[in-house]
Amino acid sequence: MSEVILKVNDLKTYFNTDDGIVKAVDGVSFELEKGEMLGIVGESGSGKSVTNLSLMKLIPSPPGKIMSGTAMLDGVDIFKMNDNEIRKLRGNRIGMIFQDPMTSLNPFLRISTQMIETIMLHQDKDKSAARARAVEMLEMVGIPNPSKRINDYPHQFSGGMRQRVMIAMALSCDPEILIADEPTSALDVTIQAQIIEVMQELCRKLNTAVIMITHDLGVVAGICDKVCVMYAGRIVEKGSNDEIFKDPKHPYTQGLIKSVPRLDRPSKGRLYSIEGQPPNVIDLPECCPFHPRCEKAMDKCRNTYPPLKVFGKGREVSCWLYEGEK
Ligand code: SF4
Repeated sequence: MSEVILKVNDLKTYFNTDDGIVKAVDGVSFELEKGEMLGIVGESGSGKSVTNLSLMKLIPSPPGKIMSGTAMLDGVDIFKMNDNEIRKLRGNRIGMIFQDPMTSLNPFLRISTQMIETIMLHQDKDKSAARARAVEMLEMVGIPNPSKRINDYPHQFSGGMRQRVMIAMALSCDPEILIADEPTSALDVTIQAQIIEVMQELCRKLNTAVIMITHDLGVVAGICDKVCVMYAGRIVEKGSNDEIFKDPKHPYTQGLIKSVPRLDRPSKGRLYSIEGQPPNVIDLPECCPFHPRCEKAMDKCRNTYPPLKVFGKGREVSCWLYEGEK
């Protein structure tokens, strides 16, 4: 039986700016099961990163604020945790990998210092046991000669190797959940594939659940069990990987899939791209925010936000096209 370890319900995170209220995340709900890989996909500004920063309580306040919602981790609401409890949660129960490892690694400290400190902070290990664990993790992510390379500084590693170090560091305390925010966007395509493979293999081995945040549907295609597609701060479609890729229902998801380059089919000229720009999420009117870019938009799309249509367990779409469907 699958076990839900994280249940996010109706999360709303807003930012108070001089121009108005930015509803960066506006009523997001999803579940994550043990050992599962969940992809959260959307263009820049869709709210995917703010969703995950909210889960770690890393929203700068002011101007940001978690307005409402719950995030239940093993029955405890993360949003009700105090600073001390949150500090214990980060790194220990929830690990994070960011796009650019140089922003997370301290360039002045050896990898050994950074990894050993993290392990000793969160786990009941002395220095030599923490070092042994760090070397073991570096070996698991494919760093050659890890017992020597652990003494190097971040700049002595290539971009791909630094991201491997970040994965090793994030998983060194056996977190139940790993949040990977655009982990491969700064890398070239060959290295991207290697990093995704390392992360997937290791998380499956350690039974770590993953939330993979990306603008690239191609990244989640091969590895995620479930996918949530976000647009203008809300989830517009949810489903298993198969459901999303074989039967995408929301016009936005259909557009995203069409814009992924395919190597298994002959090219038919220019790659498809969704016309227009994502909306400004300041004071958005209560209509379908995708309507100016949607080829299937109807009058009601311009006047009312589409209700959520549930097609089965975990299969949901928010679009007027499915209003009368069972
Ligand atoms: Fe397009 Fe209307 Fe569906 Fe929005 S609700 S995606 S505008 S058809």
